[in-house]
Amino acid sequence: MRLLLPSILLLFGCIACANKEGQPTPTVLPVSPPPPAQRSEQEWRARLSPEQFHILREGGTERAFQGAYWQEHRPGIYHCAGCGAPLFSSTTKYKSGTGWPSFWQPISPTAVEEREDHSWFSTRTEVRCQHCGSHLGHVFADGPPPTGLRYCMNSAALQLQLEEK
Ligand code: FE
Repeated sequence: MRLLLPSILLLFGCIACANKEGQPTPTVLPVSPPPPAQRSEQEWRARLSPEQFHILREGGTERAFQGAYWQEHRPGIYHCAGCGAPLFSSTTKYKSGTGWPSFWQPISPTAVEEREDHSWFSTRTEVRCQHCGSHLGHVFADGPPPTGLRYCMNSAALQLQLEEK
């Protein structure tokens, strides 16, 4: 008996939402902004500075020792400059001496995606934001313990949210 009433309601609902041909009536959903992965080039250009667009959307690299975060060591969370997703914690940032902000681990295993990059006559591992697909930098196997990895990021691809005191 406990299942009878929900079953009747479900059956009635299915009949009510079907039209004469038995097809479901289309539901009109409110229009929302496209998810970051579906933004057009025009939308990305409107959101980002020219330098950010070049790095995040065209795979560019900023000049060493020039970015905002290579010398930054205050506590906080580094977010994607393209979509705001959290990517790295300052607790895994270290002085690599390369001139780019370097981390030995992303904030979570699913924060970034890694793929082979065969540009510039070499094979490197590109790092992208998992959420919006934007290029962030590369990862190399010459980092410090405990991972031995160096996530070499572009400052312009990141946005630091300082830890509140
Ligand atoms: Fe992103």
